[in-house]
Amino acid sequence: MSAPSRTPPPPAGSRLLIDLTELPDEGRLFEGSLPASVFDLEPGGPRPLSPLHYRLWVERDGDHLTASGELSADFSFECVRCLEPFDDRITLDGYQLEEEVDAKSPSIDLTDRVREDILLALPGHPRCEEASLTPRACPASEMFPKVGDIISDLPEETSTPADSRTIWGALDQLDLKSTPKSPENPRRNH
Ligand SMILES: [Zn+2]
Repeated sequence: MSAPSRTPPPPAGSRLLIDLTELPDEGRLFEGSLPASVFDLEPGGPRPLSPLHYRLWVERDGDHLTASGELSADFSFECVRCLEPFDDRITLDGYQLEEEVDAKSPSIDLTDRVREDILLALPGHPRCEEASLTPRACPASEMFPKVGDIISDLPEETSTPADSRTIWGALDQLDLKSTPKSPENPRRNH
């Protein structure tokens, strides 16, 4: 008798596959890593620097499979302020997922779930000074002047220019000359 033909299994370690037929009732620890290629990210954005590491306790409860533990992976980001690359580790501590068990399937593949959950945790506006791996002072913060510098750059005092005073003086003279003397022609009532 020949074994039924099957699609060849993926290379070891490239998927997080839970074999339900071998999962003990009390659950089991799954620990390992998925290659960085599972992230399948567009060029120009965050770049994975490490495999996706997982350490998950997987347990089945009837129609549900739960996995809880930790996921982590290192990425290279571009800082939104200084535009320089920096490395950071994305860690999902206390991670938990739940999947429905397909009664017809002998296994369940959690690869896409853990991949998506790591990607969702990537910072939308990465800043090098907030990196957990190697935090540093963002060089771009030097580009923003301090308030004290702005104030000392202002002119010392806005003094009235000399010719401005002359103008006012001339106006005073003009005013005196043009001021009509009190009219001495009383109106007559008709
Ligand atoms: Zn920066």
